[in-house]
Amino acid sequence: MVLNTNNWDWRIYCGNRKCDFSIELKKENLQNYFDTKFGKQIYETSKQYDINIFSELYEEMMCGKCETFPLHIINNKHDLILDPENIVTCAECEKPILLTRLKIKKNTKICTPCAREMEKSTAERIKIHNDQAMPKSPPLPKGMEKCEKCGSDATTRYSFSNQQWFISCSTFPNCWWKKSMPKTVKGKRSEMLYDILSSYDDLMDIAFKARKNKDLACLKDINSEFYRRIINKKDMGKIPTKTAEKGYNQTEFWIKELIKKQ
Ligand SMILES: [Zn+2]
Ligand SMILES: [Zn+2]
Ligand SMILES: [Zn+2]
Repeated sequence: MVLNTNNWDWRIYCGNRKCDFSIELKKENLQNYFDTKFGKQIYETSKQYDINIFSELYEEMMCGKCETFPLHIINNKHDLILDPENIVTCAECEKPILLTRLKIKKNTKICTPCAREMEKSTAERIKIHNDQAMPKSPPLPKGMEKCEKCGSDATTRYSFSNQQWFISCSTFPNCWWKKSMPKTVKGKRSEMLYDILSSYDDLMDIAFKARKNKDLACLKDINSEFYRRIINKKDMGKIPTKTAEKGYNQTEFWIKELIKKQ
């Protein structure tokens, strides 16, 4: 193992071989360095000064000695964090996406700050759409009180990425068993359980049943789920699936139809 004895997090240097401009920076120096260099406060809070500032200001950074542009920036593992020859720009803000991000998220079209922003707004949008705050922890459905893998007690947990409650083992992270929380749809005589993460066809079958039995809550659940699938794709820079759009529009229509009849 090679010990990292560098006393810096990033080194900026001039691409011009005849020029010896080079500066070493630690994370805690970023604010001071960039604010001074650009003669203004770049971000509102100190917390925002992180590696992403190199992408934010990349196009404006030129060598102070010979005016070569752009500068080279490496991290303390001596990897370029942006390759001047091969810049991938963010589909949202058009700033270059850091190589450290592209390494982890191979085909991403969105930079880290934009992805963070979207994550925030996705949660907000879905919250507004559902027009209710996060519900209180729901009770475990009958017959699902135990982990199916190790027999310990099961528990309910909330997934922020799926915006859904799910059932997991109470011993997590020792046991990773989990299952999605079944939702209910009104049947002729009693309620039936279904899985909200089911396929389009299955969800549409259930939505159809909900419409027949005037189960507005169930229609809204399925409508929100299709909405979530659409937003998730969009936030990854992808086109939502036709089925998600279709499911969303159909359930939206049935909801309005039901409300009118009430
Ligand atoms: Zn230079
Ligand atoms: Zn961006
Ligand atoms: Zn378990």
